[in-house]
Amino acid sequence: MSKVLVTGGAGFVGSNLCRDLLNGGDEVWCLDNFSTGHRENILPFRSNAKFHLIEGDVKQLTDSDLSFRHIYNLACPASPIHYQKDPVGTMMSSVLGTKNILELARVTGARVLQASTSEIYGNPNVSPQPETYFGNVNPTGLRACYDEGKRAAETLCFDYRRQHGVDVRVVRIFNTYGPGMAIDDGRAVSNFIVQALCNSPLIIYGRGAQTRSFMFVDDLVAGLKLTMSQEEIDTPINLGNPHEISINQLANLVLELLPESSSDIIHRASLSDDPIVRKPDINRAMRQLGWLPSVDLRDGLLMTINYFRRAMKE
Ligand code: NAD
Ligand code: UDP
Repeated sequence: MSKVLVTGGAGFVGSNLCRDLLNGGDEVWCLDNFSTGHRENILPFRSNAKFHLIEGDVKQLTDSDLSFRHIYNLACPASPIHYQKDPVGTMMSSVLGTKNILELARVTGARVLQASTSEIYGNPNVSPQPETYFGNVNPTGLRACYDEGKRAAETLCFDYRRQHGVDVRVVRIFNTYGPGMAIDDGRAVSNFIVQALCNSPLIIYGRGAQTRSFMFVDDLVAGLKLTMSQEEIDTPINLGNPHEISINQLANLVLELLPESSSDIIHRASLSDDPIVRKPDINRAMRQLGWLPSVDLRDGLLMTINYFRRAMKE
């Protein structure tokens, strides 16, 4: 049994991770400010004596009594519509928040897993993207608060490791979907499913030829736990599903899986700095963790559709 802190534990990925850790017998502290996370996500854990909620902001972490064996640092909005609402807050959640977590780890000896992102590759000139690619980010655009915040957080992680010996590992997470996403999350998978279930048009930004590679959340949780459990690991490490599809294909697949929907597809203007391609090179994760995503996109979308059907009735 480990004492584990999950920052952002009430969010989509965080709540799936908390559930898995609790099922494995860990004692879990969830730190969340509920800016994009939801109380319903952690409601099922509240009766578990091994679950503890710290309602607070990772930017203002001051409690020197806290001590954990493992810290998963997930606290940061991840959907473009949410992270662009308060861009300064987004950047500071990554930079100040990660610094606070690394300080806590320096003082207490905790091992840290930092949730970074494929967004650090920006609009990549190289595809698939290996960890050795430095990326192509517009530092002044609308997405920079997230991309550059996560890049600076990575820098802090490696500097705390070199300067203070903190045991920190960085995972670069590619687009992840699944149960636990908020109805108003705003990302492509959840929007398309919610729109199709409401018989509203699926809105594609741009021509829809841009690609993403979607990973089911259970695969991500397995990869996060494996990364945390290694005594020695060479990171950053990509965690993603290399199955790359266009946004047009994704929208059509959602409609195919919901044949009762009367939705059609409409196109709107492209979003600023929207990456054209994204596909992970996962050789490093395969080699070091023996990890491979196992959930097929159709199966994962069907599970996600069932989840949204229930969530939208509540
Ligand atoms: P999410 O928005 O559902 O969850 C983020 C959680 O962090 C929420 O519960 C939110 O309330 C909390 N939070 C935000 N700022 C905070 C702060 N300053 N202090 C305390 N809590 C705060 O997003 P998600 O998809 O679950 O993403 C979780 C993490 O994984 C993020 O760090 C994100 O960058 C990373 N990630 C996710 C994806 C993905 O596709 N889901 C891809 C790449 C990286
Ligand atoms: N997208 C879209 N309609 C939506 C939401 C997103 O066409 O309702 C597009 C978006 O422009 C991007 C892709 O889908 O090209 C993935 O967007 P998402 O917000 O899911 O993730 P990210 O851009 O962060 O990869």
